[in-house]
Amino acid sequence: MLFVGPHVSIAKDISLAPVRAHELGATGFALFTKNQRVWSAPPISEESIISFRKNMEECGFTAKAVLPHAGYLINPASPDKDLWEKSLSLFLDEAARTLALGLDTINIHPGAYKEGLGTDGIRRSAMMMDEVLGQMPGLRIAIENTAGAGTILGSSFEELDELLSAANEKDRIGFTLDTAHLFGSGYDVASDPDSILDSFFSRFGKDKLYGMHLNDSKVPLASHKDRHESIGKGLIGKEAFLAIVKRQEVQDIPLVLETIDETLWKDEIKMLLSA
Ligand SMILES: [Zn+2]
Ligand SMILES: [Zn+2]
Repeated sequence: MLFVGPHVSIAKDISLAPVRAHELGATGFALFTKNQRVWSAPPISEESIISFRKNMEECGFTAKAVLPHAGYLINPASPDKDLWEKSLSLFLDEAARTLALGLDTINIHPGAYKEGLGTDGIRRSAMMMDEVLGQMPGLRIAIENTAGAGTILGSSFEELDELLSAANEKDRIGFTLDTAHLFGSGYDVASDPDSILDSFFSRFGKDKLYGMHLNDSKVPLASHKDRHESIGKGLIGKEAFLAIVKRQEVQDIPLVLETIDETLWKDEIKMLLSA
């Protein structure tokens, strides 16, 4: 089954997220597990957890259709010891929230190494993944590919492979492929989405794709910029997305829209689900 849906708001109460997705005709969705702009937030109340789980069930969602996104403050590759420790605490907190909600996989950016060597950044990032997985039995981490500006890690399959190889908990680490980030980092998903996915699967295997972010792009191929656009309105184009959702390997994993115009989400979902 195709699990397609947007990254929905958790405003007012996190338990409303499944309802918001369901109202748009989504079969999956993404969310933050707390306000992503702050370092700490009160824990999710027992009441909200119960009501989130109830709404999941009533709206027909299972854990495998949902991919929470870790907050942007977390930098797993930070060279600053304090920031790395702070990032770890926050990541652990968000991982615990994910499990409390009855979900099992969290999406995270591999981080930016800021200074020094990229290989040291990869080592620090992998160490953080291991720390979190070591303390959170039952959790899986989906490392998201990036457009790769500056010292941001994760913009090539080679680098994603290096990250995975540097980690010990390899069985519980996989990837999220974001189409806008692929395009930004130089993978031409507009012209040939199939061969790009083929090269991912031949390197990592089908089971390492934990989810996808389906976004069109405002910025050109290999621009190393990250500017999302609505499906079919950007430089990737509708056809590429229709080809992607026809792949057998993207069945049963969350396919998340992080597109910029939420008034179009309903139509985007419908279009992808009927491809
Ligand atoms: Zn992301
Ligand atoms: Zn993304």
